[in-house]
Amino acid sequence: MSIFDASGHEQVVFCHDPESGLRAIIAVYSTALGPALGGTRFYPYASEEEALTDVLHLSEGMAYKNAIAGLDHGGGKAVIWGDPGVDKTEALLRAYGRFVESLGGRYVTACDVGTYVEDMDHVARETRHVSGRSPESGGAGDSSILTAFGVFQAMRAAAQHRWGAVDLAGRTVGVAGLGKVGRHLIPHLLEAGADVVACDVDPAAIGRTAANHPQVRLVADADELIASGIHIYAPCAMGGVLNESTLKTLDAEIVCGAANNQLAEPEVAVELERAGVLYCPDYVVNSGGVIQVADEYDGAFDFKRAERRTLGIFATTARILERAKGEGTTPVAAANAIAEERIAAVGRLQRLR
Ligand code: NAD
Repeated sequence: MSIFDASGHEQVVFCHDPESGLRAIIAVYSTALGPALGGTRFYPYASEEEALTDVLHLSEGMAYKNAIAGLDHGGGKAVIWGDPGVDKTEALLRAYGRFVESLGGRYVTACDVGTYVEDMDHVARETRHVSGRSPESGGAGDSSILTAFGVFQAMRAAAQHRWGAVDLAGRTVGVAGLGKVGRHLIPHLLEAGADVVACDVDPAAIGRTAANHPQVRLVADADELIASGIHIYAPCAMGGVLNESTLKTLDAEIVCGAANNQLAEPEVAVELERAGVLYCPDYVVNSGGVIQVADEYDGAFDFKRAERRTLGIFATTARILERAKGEGTTPVAAANAIAEERIAAVGRLQRLR
């Protein structure tokens, strides 16, 4: 997408507050299903153009994620251009909150890369249109527990599709990234009887896993992990990990993980299909997080209700994989089609209300 092509978006707002140094862009891709929901990324972009490209891309992705998760939310996202370690202050976050408030609820913000629950607590002092706050401030807190639960449900659906049973006992799952999501995913896998191989670049994450789950086999890096005879690959760290190079060494029959934007290029989805690898679209697999965030925003947060909704990721994944098989297309194409159909059908009803 060209940086000047925001024609698919409903609204793009440039925010500047000289006093606090805030420079942010809020992009509302669509409100067809409801208020646009998506996190705020705080990142030291090289240029404003790079920040704009990112926010346009991310907000469009949120429209698909929210639609397929069955939420009454459209897609939006925001970026704050700066170094969170240096530039993040209460004044800046509150100035940002006032910009969110100025949109009158068309955009609802939450955490993303570089922003945390305590940041949303500051934002919440200026706007109601925020989620992902700390439990101390009445929020739901960290969303990674339900994200990991959703990844596990998607994995079970993929196992049923590929092997005819949801059972993961005796399967080897490779988890790359033992951060907030990866660490919560491992107990689900072990409880299901899977063998787990894992890696992380952070020695502290490795040490924590070795102490808590000595049965997990730890390997040096993701390259070793994907070539170590795994049945399922669960990328739970950075994006772009599925590329031409990994395709050559990937052992797994299923890829199902939490990381956002796993495909280095959209064409990799087709390459995976050709190679006989069942790729579960990342934005479906990791939607437990946004389901939690929506539950917090839409009413008093209820963990059990959000958990029940996250359980729905099993059926959604199964439906996507079946449709892809039936239509001879990739799971990504099938997921996109289902999301677009819901936006077109339900969005029309929403406008009549
Ligand atoms: P995190 O920062 O807590 O954990 C990421 C972990 O990956 C860290 O331990 C880090 O050391 C490790 N890592 C970084 N580079 C690595 C590499 N090359 N190889 C192996 N490990 C590496 O992040 P998280 O919240 O666990 O999120 C993981 C992924 O899931 C991210 O892509 C995130 O965008 C996505 N996601 C998270 C949530 C959520 O609720 N936390 C929701 C949706 C999507």
